[in-house]
Amino acid sequence: MTDNPPAMIDPIEAMCRAHAKADGLDWDEVCGLEADPLGECDTGTCIATCYEDHDAGYARAVYRQQATAAYAALRETLVPVGWMHEHERGESVLSRKPMPRGADELGWTETPLFALPEIKDAD
Ligand SMILES: [Zn+2]
Repeated sequence: MTDNPPAMIDPIEAMCRAHAKADGLDWDEVCGLEADPLGECDTGTCIATCYEDHDAGYARAVYRQQATAAYAALRETLVPVGWMHEHERGESVLSRKPMPRGADELGWTETPLFALPEIKDAD
């Protein structure tokens, strides 16, 4: 039996989907004009609904840009709760402390691990 971690969901994609939903739109909906440039799109939940030229590609790019900026800002607020130390031989260790100075010269790299705090009610 394997004990694989759950598959990572692209956080930017997840944020775009949530943002679109909050706007009453469907991130995964295929725009009628993308499906058929000579056709129509009048669903009201298309990601391009609020854009005058109804360019779904541009609308998705705007959502991605905003999500990427928000994600970067969020990462700036987080403090690591641990570190994954990995050696070039393939060995890995979970630690509550960052790597000691000079460990990188011995073949070690580290990845900080973060925990997201709960979102407090905005009201
Ligand atoms: Zn559309």
